Amino acid sequence: QINHFNRIGESGDLTERFEDHSSRELHLLSQTANRMLDRIESLHQELQQASMTDSLTGVGNRRLFDQQLQHEWLVARRNGAVISLLMIDIDHFKLYNDTYGHQDGDQCLQGVAEVISAQVKREADLVARYGGEEFAVILPDVPLLGAEKVAERIRLAIEALGIANVDAPTTPWITISVGYASMAPQVGQECEELLRSADQALYQAKRTGRNRIQAAVI
Ligand code: GH3
Ligand code: MG
Ligand code: MG
Repeated sequence: QINHFNRIGESGDLTERFEDHSSRELHLLSQTANRMLDRIESLHQELQQASMTDSLTGVGNRRLFDQQLQHEWLVARRNGAVISLLMIDIDHFKLYNDTYGHQDGDQCLQGVAEVISAQVKREADLVARYGGEEFAVILPDVPLLGAEKVAERIRLAIEALGIANVDAPTTPWITISVGYASMAPQVGQECEELLRSADQALYQAKRTGRNRIQAAVI
């Protein structure tokens, strides 16, 4: 049938052809058109998925993170609920790249992303690569104590990977620092505030020794 239609296509004006054999050809044409529409629809979905995924690690990308944080922030505000955010940064990762090369660096990022995803279990949660060697986790409906549990679980699981980073001055294996924050969004507040708080906490975790989790003071 497809060959048949290729021949029709090559023969020029389709409408002229339809006058000759109209009903059967129209039927076949509409079948072909349906198949094309299905294909376009599935390509569109694939593209949508790809545009939201970090190609190296397979977790959400920055675009998805920004969208989802904004969305969950508004949902939490409407429901009077709380929302938590973890910011995760690999410790001394520049040294890891310098020591083992970028290919191993990329593999390490994949391993870290996998471990984080395995520790983040609820349907509504989102793991994303925020940039470089930083990851972010959105935990809707989770209070500070819950965020602390998830953060510590992730930290321990990364340490348990036991990826050597021999030149790192803190520990000779790969570790992460985590800053976390929780908020019950109020009218007039923006989600950037949650982001800033978690980020400041992360900075604090770095300053006070790395391989640790730190709650934000809000
Ligand atoms: P800190 O403990 O303070 O976080 O130190 P750091 O070395 O991890 O932080 P810094 O910001 O100095 O360096 C981040 C490094 O992460 C820089 C670069 O070598 C590495 N990096 C960022 N993105 C990628 C990536 O996509 N692939 C690889 N292999 N390395 C990356
Ligand atoms: Mg960093
Ligand atoms: Mg780092």
